[in-house]
Amino acid sequence: MPVDRGSISLHPFVLISRAFPAAFPTCEKEFMDPKDFQFGTLHNDPTSLEQAIAAKLLYAIGKDPSTAQPNDWLQAVELAVRDRLVERWIKTTRASYAQDSKRVYYLSMEFLMGRTFTNALLALGLYDEVRQALAALKVDLEEVAGHEPDAALGNGGLGRLAACFLDSMATLGIAGMGYGIRYDYGMFKQQIINGSQVESPDYWLTGGNPWEFPRPEVQYRVRFGGHVEQDNGQARWVGTQDVLAMAYDTIIPGYDVESTNTLRLWSAKATTEINLSAFNQGNYFGAVEDKNHSENVSRVLYPDDSTLSGRELRLRQEYFFVSASVQDLVRRYLSQHEGFDLLADKVAIHLNDTHPVLAVPELLRVLLDEHGLPWDKAWGLAQKIFSYTNHTLMHEALETWPVEMLGRVLPRHLKIIYDINATFLHQQTARFGHDIDLMRRLSLIDENGERRVRMAYLAVVASHKVNGVSKLHSELMKQSIFSDFARIFPERFNNKTNGITPRRWLALANPPLSALIDGEIGTGWRRHLDQLSQLNRKAGDAGFIDALRQAKQQNKQRLATWVQANLGIALDTESLFDVQVKRIHEYKRQLLNVLHVITRYNRILANPDAGWVPRTVIFGGKAASAYYQAKQIIRLINDVAAKVNSDPRVKGLLKVVFVPNYGVSLAEMIMPAADLSEQISLAGTEASGTGNMKFALNGALTIGTLDGANIEILENVGADNIFIFGNTTEQVRDIRIHGYQPRQLYESHPELRRVLDQIRDGYFSPEEPGRFQSLFDVLVNFGDHYLLLADYASYVATHEAVDALYRQPREWHRKALLNIANMGTFSADRTIGDYVEDIWRTVPLSL
Ligand SMILES: *Cc1c(COP(=O)(O)O)cnc(C)c1O
Repeated sequence: MPVDRGSISLHPFVLISRAFPAAFPTCEKEFMDPKDFQFGTLHNDPTSLEQAIAAKLLYAIGKDPSTAQPNDWLQAVELAVRDRLVERWIKTTRASYAQDSKRVYYLSMEFLMGRTFTNALLALGLYDEVRQALAALKVDLEEVAGHEPDAALGNGGLGRLAACFLDSMATLGIAGMGYGIRYDYGMFKQQIINGSQVESPDYWLTGGNPWEFPRPEVQYRVRFGGHVEQDNGQARWVGTQDVLAMAYDTIIPGYDVESTNTLRLWSAKATTEINLSAFNQGNYFGAVEDKNHSENVSRVLYPDDSTLSGRELRLRQEYFFVSASVQDLVRRYLSQHEGFDLLADKVAIHLNDTHPVLAVPELLRVLLDEHGLPWDKAWGLAQKIFSYTNHTLMHEALETWPVEMLGRVLPRHLKIIYDINATFLHQQTARFGHDIDLMRRLSLIDENGERRVRMAYLAVVASHKVNGVSKLHSELMKQSIFSDFARIFPERFNNKTNGITPRRWLALANPPLSALIDGEIGTGWRRHLDQLSQLNRKAGDAGFIDALRQAKQQNKQRLATWVQANLGIALDTESLFDVQVKRIHEYKRQLLNVLHVITRYNRILANPDAGWVPRTVIFGGKAASAYYQAKQIIRLINDVAAKVNSDPRVKGLLKVVFVPNYGVSLAEMIMPAADLSEQISLAGTEASGTGNMKFALNGALTIGTLDGANIEILENVGADNIFIFGNTTEQVRDIRIHGYQPRQLYESHPELRRVLDQIRDGYFSPEEPGRFQSLFDVLVNFGDHYLLLADYASYVATHEAVDALYRQPREWHRKALLNIANMGTFSADRTIGDYVEDIWRTVPLSL
């Protein structure tokens, strides 16, 4: 926002003439011959940057500086910064061709990127210079940066993991690309109206997206429908309806290195513009109908997380982007190589969950039908090229497609899947004999009821490596859904515990803590997060612990200011900030958190002078739009918040806040402000979690179950520095085997019973007393599938231990320090290093 652009501000012509010395008419460089292109001639001092920004505003955005709006300045400065990335990008691309590197293609339906501008400034090391340049133009950097919309092309953890991985791949110099879909509408916007979630579309592209380079020359035909003809043993797929996939590229900068990476997203375009004959007959709607229909394939992100959405459009989306990606990577390979002998040495394709697994039959189709390779050769290549990450064991999240639908939408691919299945089952019969039961279990086709293709099995059979995302999850994966496959292919299964990028999740998100760490151990932790372990030596240093506490206090104040301005709620920054932010899902057990909040409320009212530690309980997260119970949980949180926050008897000892529209940028503000991180999924259900890592890295203590990566956080930070509660995976198994009886717990535990009765009887919803009957029923009458009642007592008791520790601030913050110091292993750089070494088998570019 232009600061103080009143009558006393600079006259625009003064501004312009200062920013444009005559000898430097635009910030474009002049060069005669592309061969002579000189890198590194863009200047990065504040004055040059000021000129560059002013030139962009004028010549690229076409705005008069005297009337430019914050979004105009944002776009101008983004373009100026982007110029500085382009050189690195071209250098990286040239190097990857010159070195003929093996490229890693990371295929993901989701990339939850968040904002790009400040991350680019950090990567380039230009934060302060650009701040000064903007200040000279009377523009405030933080203010314009706040106008950048999040690129929210994902639901939650899976999409954010893909974004962190791109950052680490770029930083480590791994040649490759992320491939995904350029959804017109990303994750829906969430408002809370009368306590309920209301969704609205995310128009993220309307303000323009200066980060992307449209590539109209890069388009592929993606085919659907039709039928397959056999022509002398060669399959011909004909009679299809086609869509074009057009590429849009975004530069992914590596941090403090020359190397970059590319995120290539595909947008659907109709093969013909409009139906001219319909148009000429005055049927204007009919004229655009087909065009709109085919372009719908990249219109909107499925707002669904860990439940299978069975819609045909979703299948089309999956095929759309993998087909374009496979065609693109084969074209790139062939531009440098004759024949396919080297394909597996030059290409690794990684499947982020099963959503992109149609890349397997698509690669086979291209090799068999378009290049005439024999089956054995093509299948052998595929098995060397593909690798797959499993992200969930939950049955309802495992993708299967009806054979009928797949055969109708992708008849050639169904035939290839049948051929893969026949080859695979034949091999297993040779090995294990005629075991009908085993073959039924292994088959890529589920024959129980409506015949369906099991996409996870296809991924396992086609991949040379299959990984889970935490130690526990990788073990459970072998014991449960893939047990037969783990016996057949023991060498395929491995673990790669997830990680997060320290650039976004510490350096950008937490300036006070970053400055404190820099002062103690230097700045190298941004690239080598293990260096944080040097902070262990400060555990006995009261001055340092106090400084850490002050940094936390600043972050809490920043959040409190935002909450006051945006939600009108005053927060006590001395209170313990107890935070649970993540997708709303029954397995993540936000409802267990609510049970504790109500328990606490009841206890405070019963005994107000018991020396309570004041608490602020903060929730945030979206519920899938069709997920009724999750939406009811949001409603209950808001109803409880309304009652608790307005009850004068509570005397500020408890406050409950639901922060709407949780996303990456809000996470960057909320997580550094947390004292306590709630990671309370039922043991055995959260594959890894990455939110847990972000919190601990920012000095929150975890209250959590022995689930996912919580277990490895415990191993690293030490049992004294984390609050673990609840049943273990094995105990959960035993409870289920012996017949879990939640109603008995309800009846035998008076305090719990009171809380549940309050929910059921409308204590928090007097205007509609039956509102939460179904939440009560799920817990008490319908089996409490996620065992909230079984973990309740242990959870509440552990919160008492949390209070006790918070009463000793030095001790609390000493433990927080020990969390920060021992989180180095959770850098996504470590994770990507492990993928490179064990799965992708490639080496970094030399630049
Ligand atoms: C990290 C992150 C997630 C994943 O959080 P979990 O607690 O691991 O489920 C989801 N959404 C956003 C915006 C994130 O930044």
